[in-house]
Amino acid sequence: MRLTAGEAAQLRALREALRGLAARNNGLDLPIDFELLKRAAERAKFGLEFEPRARRSRLVPAAPGFAGGVGRILGEVHEAMHDGTWDRLKICAAETCLWAYYDRSKNLHSRWCSPAVCGNRDKVRRYRERATKAAAKRRRAPLPTP
Ligand SMILES: [Zn+2]
Repeated sequence: MRLTAGEAAQLRALREALRGLAARNNGLDLPIDFELLKRAAERAKFGLEFEPRARRSRLVPAAPGFAGGVGRILGEVHEAMHDGTWDRLKICAAETCLWAYYDRSKNLHSRWCSPAVCGNRDKVRRYRERATKAAAKRRRAPLPTP
């Protein structure tokens, strides 16, 4: 299936809306286009499918083609929001990264996609900020009297 330029743009917008939703799991406040999510869900024409053996139900998009494909993504998000795994999908707190990652920590407190890369970069940035403030404070301090 080849995407049109408009469909590719819709997928990018959907990705950003989902990034905004996942960012809330990490305490970040990125914009979320709720109207876009609502329209995409309407176009997917969801139905409810029951799985008697698993004693479960799930949302299944009835729409064919692109709208149905987007619906399958939204259906997975819906499922994750109900089985608790969505809370673990986070957005890296580094402003220059904002990469989505799955938080596998026991206490759900990870903030970086990679502690070794983004976490370390943040540590270095904060260290430099403290060093700059301390240097400015020393420059303002009166000279010791002999
Ligand atoms: Zn990152």
